[in-house]
Amino acid sequence: MLYDNHGRQLRYLRLGVTERCNLRCFYCMPEEGLNFSHRSQILSFEEMERLTRILAEMGINKVRITGGEPFVRKNIMELIENISAIEGIDSVNITTNGTSLIEHLPKLKAIGIDAINLSLDCLDKERFLKITRRDEYDQVMNSFQALMDSGITTKINMVVMEEHNLEDIIPMCELTLQHKVNVRFIEEMPFNGGGKKFTPITWNARQILAHIQGHYPNVEKLTDAESSTSLNYQLPNAKGSFGIIPAYTRTICHSCDRIRLTPKGELKTCLYDGGSFSFRDFMRAGATDEEIRNQFRTLFSNRAKDGFEAQQKSSNPFESMATIGG
Ligand code: SAM
Repeated sequence: MLYDNHGRQLRYLRLGVTERCNLRCFYCMPEEGLNFSHRSQILSFEEMERLTRILAEMGINKVRITGGEPFVRKNIMELIENISAIEGIDSVNITTNGTSLIEHLPKLKAIGIDAINLSLDCLDKERFLKITRRDEYDQVMNSFQALMDSGITTKINMVVMEEHNLEDIIPMCELTLQHKVNVRFIEEMPFNGGGKKFTPITWNARQILAHIQGHYPNVEKLTDAESSTSLNYQLPNAKGSFGIIPAYTRTICHSCDRIRLTPKGELKTCLYDGGSFSFRDFMRAGATDEEIRNQFRTLFSNRAKDGFEAQQKSSNPFESMATIGG
């Protein structure tokens, strides 16, 4: 089993499968894109599967496929299917922008994908265009409807940004009245790849909740799973629920069970750490499974207590969520 130096067991791998994305959300990367790594610098499927198998042997039982946009990586379904088949992996989830999800849904359902997180920052076509800088609103809304019809557990990720989508908070909440969906409001973080100046947010988890309670005073607090990153609630008589993720104010670190592997194979023991070790280089230099296991143990025995400590220790400027595997 894999534990960190604070007694937290690691159970959940977030695997970034590509840095590339077909949207250009202004809070994530610059309009012209990033200085994307060459294909040879990105882990192959075999390397990703090997690291996942080793981690599964160490007690990791849940994997999230993320990026960049997972569905822009060629043959991604092959990787998803192989990861799902690894012994010990009970749950495979995907985070996607939904632009090309529909064509893959039947296969994803057949593989038994447990849940899909759809990123959608607003319910208005014009605002969508302004935020993502791509005309893909209709495709994403079609994906949302297809997800609702498929019965796959669905969460919507909405990054809350002052002056950009505050007017969408209540309509997003109200989606849960009609649909069995969990809408998650995420505090904006500085991981934008230099695409914009980050000013410390005022719309934090507390403010978002107060805003919703201003419209729905009888919001009910739900019980959160032990390692949940979201504080969960429900509107009266809603089919779904909503959550708030204090990603920037970081009140959730105490139960963090996550491991992040970037598309280049760097380990992040915390979202806010600079990326400490290249498993890609280690594997390509011939490391054995035993050496890889020991390396995970060593790195997690020196893990920051929380995101503030990790940020303090990190010398890296804030990169894009797409290169981290958000
Ligand atoms: N392309 C996929 C998608 O759009 O869902 C997966 C990768 S994306 C980087 C993962 C999540 O990170 C999305 O929900 C996105 O909104 C979120 N994200 C990106 N940049 C962020 C930032 N600066 N602050 C908070 N969340 C961010």
